[in-house]
Amino acid sequence: MTVDDLLVVGGGITGLSLAVHAARRGLRTTLVEAGTLGGVSTQRSGALVRTHYADPCSARLAQRGLQAFEAFDLRYGGPAGFVATGFVYVPEPGEPVAERVELLRELGIETRLLDQDAARRIDPALDLEGVAEVAYEPRSGFADPSRTCATLAAAARAAGAVLRPHSAVSELLTDRAGAVCGARLAGGERVEAASTALCAGAFSGGLAAPVGEELALRPTAVSLALLERRVDVHCCVIDAPGGIYFRPDPAGATLVGRRTWTDTPLDGPDVALPAVDDAFVDDARARLVARLPSATGARVISTRAGMLDMTPDGLPLVGPSAVPGLWLCCGWSGTGFKTGPAVGDALAGWLATGTPDPDLAGFAPAREMRVASAARSPH
Ligand SMILES: Cc1cc2nc3c(=O)[nH]c(=O)nc-3n(C[C@H](O)[C@H](O)[C@H](O)COP(=O)(O)OP(=O)(O)OC[C@H]3O[C@@H](n4cnc5c(N)ncnc54)[C@H](O)[C@@H]3O)c2cc1C
Repeated sequence: MTVDDLLVVGGGITGLSLAVHAARRGLRTTLVEAGTLGGVSTQRSGALVRTHYADPCSARLAQRGLQAFEAFDLRYGGPAGFVATGFVYVPEPGEPVAERVELLRELGIETRLLDQDAARRIDPALDLEGVAEVAYEPRSGFADPSRTCATLAAAARAAGAVLRPHSAVSELLTDRAGAVCGARLAGGERVEAASTALCAGAFSGGLAAPVGEELALRPTAVSLALLERRVDVHCCVIDAPGGIYFRPDPAGATLVGRRTWTDTPLDGPDVALPAVDDAFVDDARARLVARLPSATGARVISTRAGMLDMTPDGLPLVGPSAVPGLWLCCGWSGTGFKTGPAVGDALAGWLATGTPDPDLAGFAPAREMRVASAARSPH
């Protein structure tokens, strides 16, 4: 039996991206996915691609992510459905948004502070009454999760990675020294590898615990709604005071989600997500109308619930775990779509050369975690 260099567990955007970049770096790579390729969280994602973050580690990775989405065809040989609508961050009163914009600009991110009049000129559809300033990113927007994952899967295969959908891991394997050396699949088959990377989203904790790695991960459920759009276009928006994010959707809709969540127990990847109720839709629409008045009375086109892998500080767990052979790339806390292409590249580089680029020290699994601030929250 050949032993791979890398076993990737999970075929969402994170795992697929890691598989592409690892294979391109010459690592013998196998990816196993419990269901179909494309992910659980990923398929339900709001898929905003923006760079407004309070911590430099997230901002740098988001910037690399944005660059990847802008050049997706060139880098991966197919589309991601990326649309650069522009992104507006409406801060809470008293939030240090000017300082944050300054910090982001120092990192080379294209963003600026707009006063109310300038923001209205950029996006006349928004009601910004009472808002002094917003942060604006002209290059940001949103992408299409299905097209993104289909392109990454094709690129991974083209680079030589073996992708195995419908291959659920039942347990991680350890050698006599206690190091992780691969995984056993539900049918009993052993897949061995020098390194195993957990990219299993909200399900990562259940796989890591039996080998002695307790992850600070809370599986949580979130809902979103697609409402009929009554204006031609509007920016992607995070409305911190309104507690929502929204973006235009190609299906003539505005996609709107709340920035709150409920903890959900998980038995496995085939968990039934809670139904989206009318109270959620009414509340989300009322909040949307306050910022996007044209949504008044907008008809519901569809709703969906999704799963997040929340950490206490809202930052992911990326890097080697305390157990030799086991790498983590999970805990994305509702914000891991935009960074998917970039983190796969960085982690593959780390595995191949011993150093990540960009630096991912802020995501060290063993860090001390503080409770997340508003600007670290999804999406
Ligand atoms: C409603 C919603 C809105 C969001 N909005 C945004 C946004 O606007 N912008 C943004 O950047 N992010 C957003 N996110 C977050 C983002 O979608 C996720 O962080 C990202 O998709 C995570 O990708 P992943 O590949 O790590 O996880 P997933 O997509 O969940 O993939 C994990 C995969 O692991 C597989 N798996 C699990 N257990 C096993 C096992 N035992 N064996 C094999 N495979 C297994 C699962 O089947 C799944 O396919 C949103 C998420 C949701 C739900």
